[in-house]
Amino acid sequence: MNEATLAIATQDEKQSTQKTYPAKVYSARSATSGMAPSSIQRRAPRPEDVQIEILYCGVCHSDLHQVRNEWVSAMPTVYPCVPGHEIVGRVVKAGSAVKKFKEGDIAAVGCMVDSCGVCPSCREGNEQFCDKVATFTYNSEDKHLGGVTYGGYADSIVVNENFALRVSPRLDLAATAPLLCAGITTYSPLRHWNVKKGQKVGVVGLGGLGHMAVKFANAFGANVVLFTTSANKTSDALRLGAHEVVISKNPAEMQKHLASFDFILDTVSAQHDLNAYIDLLKRDGTLTMVGAPPTPLPLGAFGLLFKRRQLAGSIIGGIRETQEMLDFCAEHGITADIERIRIQQVNEAFERLLKSDVKYRFVIDMSSLK
Ligand code: NAP
Ligand code: ZN
Repeated sequence: MNEATLAIATQDEKQSTQKTYPAKVYSARSATSGMAPSSIQRRAPRPEDVQIEILYCGVCHSDLHQVRNEWVSAMPTVYPCVPGHEIVGRVVKAGSAVKKFKEGDIAAVGCMVDSCGVCPSCREGNEQFCDKVATFTYNSEDKHLGGVTYGGYADSIVVNENFALRVSPRLDLAATAPLLCAGITTYSPLRHWNVKKGQKVGVVGLGGLGHMAVKFANAFGANVVLFTTSANKTSDALRLGAHEVVISKNPAEMQKHLASFDFILDTVSAQHDLNAYIDLLKRDGTLTMVGAPPTPLPLGAFGLLFKRRQLAGSIIGGIRETQEMLDFCAEHGITADIERIRIQQVNEAFERLLKSDVKYRFVIDMSSLK
């Protein structure tokens, strides 16, 4: 019995003792099947749960990596796979113990739906680093029903209220969805490394994460330089808040910035040369990876040694910080730049993501699933 069959067997056992209801979804049956309509069982909301009718779900490049099993060694995919972790919707049921929401409220769900709650990281609000590993919104062990969790390419989701976020009525709901992953994943490291006025900050890649990083770094007062492989994104990058744009394929343009950056955030989803960016850091500068290319990237030691530079990584952000980010966005009028799609266009959207052809996040209007 392989891992997937084992997971499904446990799921059948657990589901027979739990109340569930059917949800419409788009799922992948294998790494090569593409996405197609199907249905799954969700748990009926328990006292501390909210059931959310999903209005919008963003399309993250992680959805594509996971659906195609590109992270096979780190996070192998269990099929069927229902991706989606940039969820905005309306509460249709609130359990008897729920305090934060009532029926009819707008609520959002990001990349996590549970964590142990008692380890040092959880206690300090960094559930993404939970010692027992947080339950991610999809492809994580489902502690209630068995099997794996299913994400937001669906008409509804049920989560513990502690993992649902409040959304300001001032924000456009479709353009808010990408904040739940692309937003927090870029906000959190920019805050952690204390990006501020007077600093020179680089952002590598202008996709879903990159365009949010440009907006936040600009809002925090930094001098923002965007590195792109797509010359046709230059004017958009300047409009989004970059002060300068560098075409990274042009060595002469890169040379001009040698040893000048305080901080660089790398959002690239595929193979690329990290060493070229390490060389652009000044003494004690940091290059932080948020992009998750499936294959290892070659690293030369000397770029780090000279100038005591640092290479780091960051993954999403805690629930408290996600709420802080949403509130910051409401206050500063920040949302994602989106292309709205119907769910039937999601396979085409994946193909366009692979060509770096999105301006700058696809968001699925979930009414198309009805
Ligand atoms: P995306 O919208 O597809 O953007 C990626 C951008 O990277 C592209 O628009 C492109 O920008 C650049 N790029 C793509 N291929 C490249 C190549 N071969 N060489 C150089 N640049 C290239 O993806 P996303 O949704 O922003 O996600 C980006 C990465 O972050 C993915 O690997 C995703 O899994 C990961 N991620 C990590 C976290 C986390 O918590 N750490 C959270 C979410 C996502 P230009 O056209 O400007 O060059
Ligand atoms: Zn994501």
